[in-house]
Amino acid sequence: MPNLSGETRHFIIELDAAVEAHLDWTRRVMRCAVLHASPGDDVLSSQAHQLCRFGRWIGSQRPHFEKLSVLKTRQLDAVHQTMHDAIRAMCANIMDGRPGALADLEVFEQSQSELIGLMAWFKTQFLAEAMCNDPLTGLPLRYGIEDEFLQAQKVVRREQMQLYVAMIDVDHFKDINDQYGHAIGDKALQHLSRSLSSALRPNEPLYRFGGEEFLLMMQCPSPEAATIAAKRIVEQVRNSPMPLDYFAEPVRMTITLGLTQVQNGEFLDDVVARADRALYVGKHSGRDRCVMLNG
Ligand code: GH3
Ligand code: MG
Ligand code: MG
Repeated sequence: MPNLSGETRHFIIELDAAVEAHLDWTRRVMRCAVLHASPGDDVLSSQAHQLCRFGRWIGSQRPHFEKLSVLKTRQLDAVHQTMHDAIRAMCANIMDGRPGALADLEVFEQSQSELIGLMAWFKTQFLAEAMCNDPLTGLPLRYGIEDEFLQAQKVVRREQMQLYVAMIDVDHFKDINDQYGHAIGDKALQHLSRSLSSALRPNEPLYRFGGEEFLLMMQCPSPEAATIAAKRIVEQVRNSPMPLDYFAEPVRMTITLGLTQVQNGEFLDDVVARADRALYVGKHSGRDRCVMLNG
């Protein structure tokens, strides 16, 4: 499996197990039909769709599913219940010595195949989402930047604003790792991403670009407004040290931010290269600051 967080990995394992279990219903129904063996009390219960492992699991994970699609989550619920109802009807007939009904069999086959199809869709979406988000900070990784950049260029043109890209790099982060250890370093990056996010507006996407580097897009009416916004972010980080335990001094962090204005039709690579040069200037003129460089 690709580099997924423990949580995502567990999620996918549960999803696979649910698919497996629901494919296995064919075997259980077949055994019931051929051997007249009870498929189990959980199958015959009218609440079977809530009692089965998948039913219980999806009940506890609903927000994750709904985040991807409320409609498809409802379809999944409905199709799951339909499948269990059909199985119950078929098996109840057989156990009572009557033949199963063709209609129930067809509903079972149809709902089973829909259920498996929906699960495959959710699995693909979960994996795609997990691959695009950083497991440490929860921020998006750089994969989606190009699309968002093109989208933001259109928006600023339409709204007569200007687009700015900022490269943000934590100052002397190696020292934080050296002083506190890598685990606290990780926590510091999580803390930092929360501080940064809290200073941003909804139309200012923030990405984890690399180790302790972040990329930010801002829509502003002027270079002055962009500089004010960028300085606010630098200050926010400076003023938000990460608390450690009660007796220890909090971990202080600062960032340097390289800012540049996007020209009409410019490629993202060129913009990022210029923001990087601005960052370099900021690092060499003292850090803990914002530097704007335009082409
Ligand atoms: P500068 O002010 O010049 O940017 O100094 P710096 O120490 O931040 O820069 P340098 O590039 O020398 O070191 C960056 C450090 O960030 C080294 C690397 O181990 C650490 N780092 C990158 N990603 C992670 C991470 O996910 N977790 C932790 N704990 N450390 C990380
Ligand atoms: Mg760096
Ligand atoms: Mg750094």
